[in-house]
Amino acid sequence: MSGATLVVARRIAALGTAVILMGPAPALAQGATLARDSLAARAASAPGRPVAAPDTLAPRLPVVRRDALAAGDAEGIAAADSLAGGEAMAINPAAPVPAPPPRDYVAEARANFTAENRSYAGTRTALGFVEPFYALVVALLILFSGLAAKLRDLACRLSRRLYFQVLVFLTLYTVVDFVLGFPFAWYQGYALERQYGLSTQSFAAWLGDEGKGVGVTLIVYGLVPVLWLIYRAIARWPRGWWFPVALGTLPLILAGALIQPLVIDPLYNRFTPLHDQHLKGRILELAAWGDVPARNVYEVDKSEQTVKYNAYVNGFGASQRIVLWDTTLRGMREDEILFVVGHEMGHYRLGHIWRGIVLYSLGSFLLFFLISRFAGGTLRRFGSHWDIRELKDVASMPLLAAMLSLFSLVGQPVINAYSRRVEHEADAFAVELTRDNDAGARAFLKLGSQNRDDPEPSRFVTFYQYSHPPLMERIRFALAYRPWEQGKPNRYFHRPTARR
Ligand SMILES: [Zn+2]
Repeated sequence: MSGATLVVARRIAALGTAVILMGPAPALAQGATLARDSLAARAASAPGRPVAAPDTLAPRLPVVRRDALAAGDAEGIAAADSLAGGEAMAINPAAPVPAPPPRDYVAEARANFTAENRSYAGTRTALGFVEPFYALVVALLILFSGLAAKLRDLACRLSRRLYFQVLVFLTLYTVVDFVLGFPFAWYQGYALERQYGLSTQSFAAWLGDEGKGVGVTLIVYGLVPVLWLIYRAIARWPRGWWFPVALGTLPLILAGALIQPLVIDPLYNRFTPLHDQHLKGRILELAAWGDVPARNVYEVDKSEQTVKYNAYVNGFGASQRIVLWDTTLRGMREDEILFVVGHEMGHYRLGHIWRGIVLYSLGSFLLFFLISRFAGGTLRRFGSHWDIRELKDVASMPLLAAMLSLFSLVGQPVINAYSRRVEHEADAFAVELTRDNDAGARAFLKLGSQNRDDPEPSRFVTFYQYSHPPLMERIRFALAYRPWEQGKPNRYFHRPTARR
């Protein structure tokens, strides 16, 4: 998908999805066994003594302590010292086995960010800045070339009814928008990902997915008469239309969140209940421990499109679910997957999806108010050039899309700041739930290197583009955050009184 309309469609489609990692969204898992076992084991063991985790090949605590040490944490130093003592005693002189060297995750994250990854991440960042402007230019081209007016004339010749005029104009406009936006969409969505070995899709398969995006846009905004309702409102209340339109946003977002996992997502991928019964059992245990309903944990065959890792939670009410990409399931170890699931459970338990839906609905009042004011002024200034006199003219669609793009651009840093905050809360929840700091740090480390992410982007890039905290921040936090060792209460995960 490309162009202003599709960018907007994508943003709206993304509402109600809380991605846990980078880019897309995450879900919920099992881990009662894991959490209970490892917690019990830790409680029983001497402080600083490595805890043997059945699913872990390398000792966890040494790694964590060394990282804390590197970060200059005084407590970490003390722990590392006592740990060293414990290890020495544990060694059997008859069969000396050298302890594996401690890992320095911060150094590893930096080393993983190779020149090749730097080049990929840099290109992605640049494209991220260009994308909204490209969409804006496409919309302005359609307006200034007179194409919008010509398409409107054609739509009006074909039917006198507003519903069909909107549908015909939207269809033609979406096709033109797709064609003009194609070079950008192709490079960003296909060529770049192929160049760096991240995409597993053929060009035909990628193009097919783009075509589905166009189809979904036409159905959601055209056949389901969302745009028709907006144009009716504009015709009826030329100045005050923004209010009823914003009012209508909430049910639209709710309906979208409800049907997204049931209707839209399966157009692109196959979703199946988690195959791995052992993992499923661990996830259910974690869910019971965290008092999170975990009926719906799915895996999705994202390996059809990419080698990247991710997970997310989306849906609403009965359709709510945690989804793990099959790439994540194959590439991460069980304790790392459980940490990821813990993060997604955090989104669920902390009400992030609900809060997001309410905030977007409130934000839409400001957004549509600004559009109504600026679109009116813009039409008075340029309407005669474009042969579009009034906003109720369906030919104003590219203008509305351009305005939506422009104001979203301005609002993006605010939305991202909020998003980074809730992502951090979900990370903290996952640490509190699993108490597996090392698995969390390893999960972030793998995520970064697999997805070729910049672990330490500049503050400006973070401010503008990052919906999640940069990975190095997340790694350091995952390693250092252990309130239970400092006698402090948890911030987010409070153990329910009764075990369910
Ligand atoms: Zn998240």
